Amino acid sequence: MLDFVDIHCPYCGESIEIAVDTSAGGQSYVEDCQVCCRPMNVRVTVDEEEGVSVSVSAENEGG
Ligand SMILES: [Zn+2]
Repeated sequence: MLDFVDIHCPYCGESIEIAVDTSAGGQSYVEDCQVCCRPMNVRVTVDEEEGVSVSVSAENEGG
């Protein structure tokens, strides 16, 4: 099922909402920011006890 999660863009800092397919388990993929359109690495972790957590990072850190 899809969960909607609020994250902060690593580039522009805007709060955006992304849809995460939690039934697929942990995953990582690239999604464009809805505000600045830059590609963010989205990392989804699914833990039976802690639930779903999502972290994002810039695709080219330090680059
Ligand atoms: Zn952005």
